[in-house]
Amino acid sequence: MNVKVKIGVEVHAQLKTRTKLFCSCSTEYGAIPNSQVCPVCLGMPGTLPVLNKQAVKLAIKAALALNCRINEFSLFARKNYFYPDLPKGYQITQYQYPLAANGWVDIDGHRIRIRRVHLEEDAGKIIHMGDRILIDYNRCGIPLIEIVTEPDLTSGEQAYKYLVYLRQLLRYIDVCGGDMEKGELRCEPNISVEVDGLKGERVEIKNLNSIRAVEKAINYEIERQIATLRAGRKVEMTTLLWNESTGKTEPMRVKEEEADYRYFPEPDLPPLIVKPEEIAMIRAELPELPQNKLERFVKTYKLSDRDARILAFNLPLSEYYEKLVKLGVSPHRASSFIISEVLALLKREKKSIEELNVSPEALAELLKLVEAGDLTLNIAKTVFVKMEEHNLSAREVLEREGIVQIRETDKLKEIIMEVMRENPKEVARYRAGEKKLITFFMGQVMRKTRGQANPHIARQLLVEMLEGG
Ligand SMILES: [Zn+2]
Repeated sequence: MNVKVKIGVEVHAQLKTRTKLFCSCSTEYGAIPNSQVCPVCLGMPGTLPVLNKQAVKLAIKAALALNCRINEFSLFARKNYFYPDLPKGYQITQYQYPLAANGWVDIDGHRIRIRRVHLEEDAGKIIHMGDRILIDYNRCGIPLIEIVTEPDLTSGEQAYKYLVYLRQLLRYIDVCGGDMEKGELRCEPNISVEVDGLKGERVEIKNLNSIRAVEKAINYEIERQIATLRAGRKVEMTTLLWNESTGKTEPMRVKEEEADYRYFPEPDLPPLIVKPEEIAMIRAELPELPQNKLERFVKTYKLSDRDARILAFNLPLSEYYEKLVKLGVSPHRASSFIISEVLALLKREKKSIEELNVSPEALAELLKLVEAGDLTLNIAKTVFVKMEEHNLSAREVLEREGIVQIRETDKLKEIIMEVMRENPKEVARYRAGEKKLITFFMGQVMRKTRGQANPHIARQLLVEMLEGG
C-alpha cells in the first residue's frame, strides 16, 4: 500500500495589543460579557473602522520571524456571512493581497513553507446554555493574524512539533500569549490522503482545543481516510468537528458549513501601505530568534541539544543564563543549575524568571563558591532557596544559617581517619586501584559533617591519606 499524506495548518493567533483592531475597546481577557464593546465593533450604521498601528507592527514582527516577505501594499477585504457572532454581517480580513507571504520554518530538518500571514478581526463568542444561546461581543474586533502553511506536513506528530514551535516563537517575540484556553491561539488543520493513486479530497478539522488534540485528530483522520479509500469509497471535501470525548471527527451541522463569502475590498479602509524603512526598523528590533540561539548555545557553550532548547526558547531565561556565563560561571554549571534548581523553584512558586528575587549577580556569587570548591552543590541548592525566600545574598544566608565551613585541616583529618577505620574494605579496594571510590569517601565525610566540610580541602586530604597508606 502506497500512502501519501498532505497536511496544511491554519493558525489564528491573537495579537498582544491593548485595544481592538479597528476601535479603542479593551482586549483585556475575562471581562463581564459585552462590557468591552462600542458602536464600531458592534457594527452600528455610520461608524468607521480605524486601523490599530500596533497590531500592524506585531503582525509584521511575526511575519518576519517566520521568514516571510512583507508586502508593502496590502488590502483589507470583507468576508460576508450571516451568523449571530458577527454583528456587522461581515468580517474584515485580508484576502487577495495579504500583509505577508512566502515564509518558512524548519522543523527537525524538514522545511514547512508558510503561504501567507494576514491581519483580521475576531468574531464574537457564542455560548450554549441548555436551550438558550448567549452571545458575548467582547471578542468582536480582537486583532488576529492568520498563519497558513503550504500542505508540507505529513503526520500528526509533525503538526504537533510545528505548533509547539510556532507558539514558542510567537511568545518569544512577544506577539501572542499563546494560551489556547483563552482563545489566544486556534488551529485548524486540513488533511488529504492518497492511497495507491486514489486521491481523496481535502478535509478540514475544527474544534481543536489543544495542540495534543490537533495531533490526535490528524492521526484519526489519516486512518479514517485511508480506510475509506481502501473500501472503494470517496473522501469528499468537507469540514469536520473534533469530538474530544469520543476521540473521533464528526460532520458539522449543515448550517455551519462553509458558505460563499463573496469577498470584496473593504471600502471603509485605505490600502495598507508599509514603508521599507518601517519594515527595516521592525526587523532591527527583532531579538535573536530561538532557532539561531539554540544553535549558538550548542556551539559556543557545548550544551546538549535538550538543555540548549530549554534555555534558548525562553527569551528572559536565555538572557539570565548568558548573564551568569558573562559573570564567570562555567556554561555547564550555569545551565544545569538553572534547569534543575531555578526552573523547579519557579514552578513551585508559580513565578516567571523576571519575578525571581535572586539576580544573576547573586546566583553567580553562589555558583562561584561551588566552583572554587568552597561549597558543596547540595548546600548551594539549599542556600539558593533561602536567598529567594528572604531576598538575601549567598554570604548573608551562610552567615544567618550558621553554615560555617570546616576548613581546619586537623579536624577534617580526624573525621577522615574515622571514616577509614569504619570502612576498611573500601580502603583496601581504593588502594588496589578502584579510584572511583573517592566519591564514596567524600559522601561519608559529608555525612559525618552534615555537609559542612569544605569539599575542596576534604577531597585533597582524603586523597593524601588514602594514597599515603
Ligand atoms: Zn469597540
